Amino acid sequence: MRPLKICGARIIDPAQGLDAIRDLWVDGHGRVEAIRRSGGKTDRAKLDERGRRVVSAHGKWLLPGLIDLHVHLRQPGATKTESVATGTQAAAAGGFTRIVCMPNTKPVLDNPKTLARLMEVIRREARVRVHVAASLSLGLRGQGASDHDALFKAGATALSDDGQGTERRDVLAQALATGRLVMVHAEDHKVSAGGQVCAGPVARQLGLPPWPAAAEGLRVERDLSCLKRVGGRLHIQHLSTRGALNAVRRARAAGLAVSAELTPHHALLSADDVLASQGRGPDGGPDPMLKMNPPLRGRAERRILREALADGGIQAMATDHAPHSQKAKSRGFEHAPFGVIGLETALAATLEMVREGLLDASRAVALWTLGPAKILDVPVALRPGAPADLCLVDPNHSWTVDAGAFLSRSRNTAFAGRAMRGKVILTLLAGRPVYREAGLNW
Ligand SMILES: [Zn+2]
Repeated sequence: MRPLKICGARIIDPAQGLDAIRDLWVDGHGRVEAIRRSGGKTDRAKLDERGRRVVSAHGKWLLPGLIDLHVHLRQPGATKTESVATGTQAAAAGGFTRIVCMPNTKPVLDNPKTLARLMEVIRREARVRVHVAASLSLGLRGQGASDHDALFKAGATALSDDGQGTERRDVLAQALATGRLVMVHAEDHKVSAGGQVCAGPVARQLGLPPWPAAAEGLRVERDLSCLKRVGGRLHIQHLSTRGALNAVRRARAAGLAVSAELTPHHALLSADDVLASQGRGPDGGPDPMLKMNPPLRGRAERRILREALADGGIQAMATDHAPHSQKAKSRGFEHAPFGVIGLETALAATLEMVREGLLDASRAVALWTLGPAKILDVPVALRPGAPADLCLVDPNHSWTVDAGAFLSRSRNTAFAGRAMRGKVILTLLAGRPVYREAGLNW
């Protein structure tokens, strides 16, 4: 490939404590060659005198490729809603160069054969780097362990029970004993008992079954006690409650290897939005695009979760990109499936918190780069010799979320019609463009 020079961008790379206007050079093998002081105005030409492609990026942000720990690619089994190809296109459009996909597919990714088939599709069709979280239990039922060693041998990066939660403690213990990353959906089904919205006044006013915070808190406490006993690495997916957060904080302070993620929708929206959407649903009820598991919480809880993003109590953001068909989501709130997509709105949603002064830019970027990289144990810094996995962002581009314009095959966003600022205009994977905004001078 042709060597490349991206000139004059504000490079924000928390992994090397860098936030400065610099030029970034990419060599002919797609690796970062150097980060140099910006040379000023000599970068107008498309090619420099040595044949290097010059991209003028003044006023733009250059970030390491973002990492999403929590994506549902829906392959195999539901490729009408998403696939390896479309999901990774959406990821690239959102600035992501690395994602982790979840095992609640049909069939479930609980055996080496199904996993190997998916790995083959990923090799052929993925536009970004994809890690697979295999099912930690058979059939994702939480009752019997899958063959963890065989799954890792077949290429799994992590184990997860996302969508369900692990009912049996000994099954979780077996997964933790592998010493590999175990990502858990923390929900005690005996307590959540079919709940749909945050327990409290909103559930009462809407007359919908309540999903109590304790269903998450109790399960996180149990999982942490298991971690303490067995060891290993535990990651709490889509954390949503103060109780669970405090438990994670205490465990980390005690030296346990636990981390947690927060989704953009739990950071930006609240149960009040569900209440306010009453009447907008296809059946005159609340908007099914605000139905997710765990549910949106109250504003006081949201404030505490946001503070934890800033102070390190929560280590990463993740989208929980969960595609569903329009048909499924148009059944009305009560009958619609849980979940929303998020790859193409994640960064802009996070930048809202930067403009509100809740996060500084470097911390916001860290939540999508350094934070998840540490959890996955992968390198992320744009240092010489590293693959040039990066994205270029126009921080001032104002746009309105139009679900029809997504590259994802699904449209179920919680942010339709929301005014956002900040847009990914170019994503490079090992120096090659995997997403380029239409009209970008390249
Ligand atoms: Zn989940």
